[in-house]
Amino acid sequence: MPSDAAIKHDFRSDTVTRPSSGMRRAMAEAEVGDDVFGDDPTVLRLEAMAAEHLGKDAAVFMSSGTQSNLAGLMAHCGRGDEYIVGQMAHCYRWEAGGAAVLGSIQPQPIANRADGSLALEDIAAAIKPDDPHFAITRLLALENTIGGKVLPRSYLDEATGLAREHDLGCHLDGARAFNAAVALGLPISEIVLPFDTVSVCLSKGLGAPIGSVLVGQADLIGRARRIRKMLGGGLRQVGVLAAAGIYALEHNVDRLVEDHARAQRLAEGLAAFDGLEVTQPDTNIVFVDVASQIAEAFGDHLATHGIAVTGNYGKTRWVTHLDVGDDAVTEALEVAGRFFD
Ligand SMILES: *Cc1c(COP(=O)(O)O)cnc(C)c1O
Repeated sequence: MPSDAAIKHDFRSDTVTRPSSGMRRAMAEAEVGDDVFGDDPTVLRLEAMAAEHLGKDAAVFMSSGTQSNLAGLMAHCGRGDEYIVGQMAHCYRWEAGGAAVLGSIQPQPIANRADGSLALEDIAAAIKPDDPHFAITRLLALENTIGGKVLPRSYLDEATGLAREHDLGCHLDGARAFNAAVALGLPISEIVLPFDTVSVCLSKGLGAPIGSVLVGQADLIGRARRIRKMLGGGLRQVGVLAAAGIYALEHNVDRLVEDHARAQRLAEGLAAFDGLEVTQPDTNIVFVDVASQIAEAFGDHLATHGIAVTGNYGKTRWVTHLDVGDDAVTEALEVAGRFFD
């Protein structure tokens, strides 16, 4: 029976972080204007900061990562165009089919390999020739990190290089691109360099309550700003949220190493138990396969003791973030240990 015990340590996602007191202060004190008129100074500052960090021309604040990806895809692709994307990609699988429904963009999904990448030969095979039978292949969309895994810099160059040979645009769903950058020890501008547009979430490991930024080439960002309005994402005194984003970029990027170290500790601790098969994490997400005979009982045991994880079909996902410290990891491992005693 699933338990409804109160959550004590929340490993479900890094989206569950709550704004810290410092962040709330920044929000309360934010100077604001009307962002639809383009005169909210805090939004303008966040957008300039995001563009500078990522080494791109321009940025536009978005309500969510889903909205940001959709506006990005629609900025690249028109009705009847096609984007090549991984089967497991968020902007294909987890965004309610928005590209097709709202953008009239045909997805061309291809299998993700175990490391999250798309095989170059699969990408090449999916690019359509100029022939009236086919949709026009317009864009390659990659994701980094994907399932917590970091795509190597060399792969990003190869895949986007192939896309460029065929005149495709390149979009990166970089919801957790800062995690990838921190894990690689590279500036984020390095790992997003070959992409025209990049969507980054402020509301995950960076700890803001709401918001993403779409960053990239000026013409595409201009188009995305118009599309954002069409999608109902033109907001007014949204500097109160942008202030949280600025605070997040200033205070919560370098500390992502702590989340990665805690994920590592969690992975090592859980791997010691028979019946749990742990995938070595690159960043802050730990996937654990639970043997089918114990999956339900183990899940209930965790829930009963206030350890919240996501999962189904025997696979659990544990995400570390700002609001789970060393003590939470210790206690989660103790709780898990008691199950196996
Ligand atoms: C979370 C996430 C998004 C956006 O999600 P929202 O909940 O809409 O902010 C997009 N892509 C990836 C890879 C994500 O993890």
